[in-house]
Amino acid sequence: MTTKNTATTSSVITTDKQNDKRGTLYIVATPIGNLGDITHRAIETLKKVDKICAEDTRNTRKLLTHFGIQGDLQAFHDHNETNRIEQIKGWLDSGENIALVSDAGTPLISDPGYHLVNQLGGDGTDTNVAYRIEPIPGASAIITALSIAGLPTNRFTFEGFLPAKSVGRNKVLQANALEPRTQVYYESSHRVAVTIQAMLDIYGSERKVVLARELTKLYEQVFRGNIEQLNDWINADPMHQKGEFVLMLEGHEEQSDDDIIESSSRDLLSILLDELPVKQAASLAARITGRKKNELYRLAMTIKQE
Ligand code: SAM
Repeated sequence: MTTKNTATTSSVITTDKQNDKRGTLYIVATPIGNLGDITHRAIETLKKVDKICAEDTRNTRKLLTHFGIQGDLQAFHDHNETNRIEQIKGWLDSGENIALVSDAGTPLISDPGYHLVNQLGGDGTDTNVAYRIEPIPGASAIITALSIAGLPTNRFTFEGFLPAKSVGRNKVLQANALEPRTQVYYESSHRVAVTIQAMLDIYGSERKVVLARELTKLYEQVFRGNIEQLNDWINADPMHQKGEFVLMLEGHEEQSDDDIIESSSRDLLSILLDELPVKQAASLAARITGRKKNELYRLAMTIKQE
């Protein structure tokens, strides 16, 4: 395995392989379905580390057995993450190398490990505090899905899983209604249909969506269409709701500053027109917004006629 020389001159890069006798924490990506997607470095790393911390040891044991790796497996999941951190520090302090893996894909991406990496990475000010943490990159469902979606990928947002309850879910979807970047969500078989229905209710039918199901697996399927078509498709066959999903939504059309001013003036006038005649509504709106009274008068007349 190649080792990198890490500069110590910077005030923020704080780990130094050569002078640090402590072990390294490797964050190792594993396949999201097809075992052929494991990397050479992942196999080498899992073979050479002293301990492998795994979200589900039975699941990881199967993976290790497939690749002929023994591995000292240690459970590391959402419920014991905080307790495990001190123990992992102790192992690293005694010079052991540790790998962290999750059930599938890249650890920390909607998977355990954030607190561990956050605490072991230090706060960037003390070289003695930060442990060496090395990524062993590989598959992740988000990047895999974006690579075949055909939606803009120059900028995107990742929301992970939406809240399970409808109030929370709708709140997030409403907050993202005007988001111009492509949006990526993870979904499970239990909730994929209700999430698509909620998107239809909140965003209407026309927005483009791509649903990637069971990526890299036997029943891989990718649906491309608008929200209404996807809603029909997901309900057309119970099999369409089985498995693991990445749901990607086209961003809202970018709004110019003028569009934003126009739409907030519209919202304001609509409220004022419920209480006041057109002339007074326009005059009050002009005082609130600083826009010209005659422009707002024209807009108020249009709203009245709609
Ligand atoms: N750490 C993983 C990663 O890097 O993608 C994600 C783990 S998260 C607990 C599991 C979710 O990822 C699934 O519910 C699904 O939304 C998505 N996912 C994982 N594997 C997938 C696959 N093969 N096809 C589609 N989505 C997948």
